[in-house]
Amino acid sequence: MRKYLSILMVLGLVLLCIGCINKEIKGQIEEFVEKQEVYVNEKSLDGYIDTISKEEPEYVAEKKSWMRDILENNIEKYDLEVEKIKILDDDKVSLKLRQSYQYEGKKYSIQIPLLLVKENGCWKDHDLLFDEMVTPHFRIKYHKNLKKYAVAIKNVCENAYSNVQKRYGEGIEGKTIIKLYENQELLRQSVKLSFSWQFAGWYEYPESIKTTEFEDEETYRKILEHELIHKITIKKSNNNMPYWFSEGVAVYFANFPNQPKDFQTKEYYLNTYRDYEIDILKLEKANLEKMEEDKSIHCYYDSSGMVIKFIVEKYGVEKVKKIVEELGRFPYEEGTGSEINEQSIKRYHLVLEKVLGVCVEELNKEWIQFINEAE
Ligand SMILES: [Zn+2]
Repeated sequence: MRKYLSILMVLGLVLLCIGCINKEIKGQIEEFVEKQEVYVNEKSLDGYIDTISKEEPEYVAEKKSWMRDILENNIEKYDLEVEKIKILDDDKVSLKLRQSYQYEGKKYSIQIPLLLVKENGCWKDHDLLFDEMVTPHFRIKYHKNLKKYAVAIKNVCENAYSNVQKRYGEGIEGKTIIKLYENQELLRQSVKLSFSWQFAGWYEYPESIKTTEFEDEETYRKILEHELIHKITIKKSNNNMPYWFSEGVAVYFANFPNQPKDFQTKEYYLNTYRDYEIDILKLEKANLEKMEEDKSIHCYYDSSGMVIKFIVEKYGVEKVKKIVEELGRFPYEEGTGSEINEQSIKRYHLVLEKVLGVCVEELNKEWIQFINEAE
């Protein structure tokens, strides 16, 4: 009897100890989350980036972009609440985190499945809790609930890679990381809290390609082709393309080949968007990320693609590629497309004269004439 009593006592002590350790870890995690929340509210970029794991450079770049968006926009009442903690081991913890904030009078809230890892004795934010699949050119990161979507991406990503390589004439160095998010809102909040609308795919240099749940493989192939064109051309231009030009090139080389030919005719374009009277100068001034009406968003993409189509028809596809290449002679600009847009437009104007021999105003006149004359 005595023997059993002492075993029970030892067992009790062990359980008590585990309880203490768990309590200690939970305390550290609460403290860590509180610190991240304070850095966001105080708009401390360095402080916030110090909480991010440095293991995956693309995640650090993504979080820098995410945080710079907060510095530039009036994100209010940012709040993080730990809803669930699961201790995976002494150095690894998964969380269900509730992120809430207000922007332009609207309230947002979402649950984030986050992984924290202890690095050199300090807890670090190690991105969402992802599993991973690998193909020759890709690493696909996904939450374990989303395995069937990850498999769909795996089935088409190499096709997307070779299609893009054929169409643009160039491949992509190294492995591209694709991140799969549980829904469009989590994808949006993982990119920029200020973004006005939910998108299907996202890429910024030097980040991962991001997407969400879609039922068919073809949708993934099309999204990946669009984002891969961004990856090739943004790298090649040293991140110096104007926003509209970057979208135009992606639409021309990725979306148009996937659409019926009728969609790229002047007649279809004018019938759909005549009232918008879009020209190159308007595209330069437009801010896609702040648009709210679906038709304005579609008009921006289609117009950008049609302007590139016009440049290809008038000057040749090699000239479009040459513009991208010449932009790449300027120094690398750190920042997302919208942050660097003004600088990129100035550089683009210089390159236009050099490559096409026209200034932007002349090119714009040619575009207006082109789009309005019968096919
Ligand atoms: Zn795009």
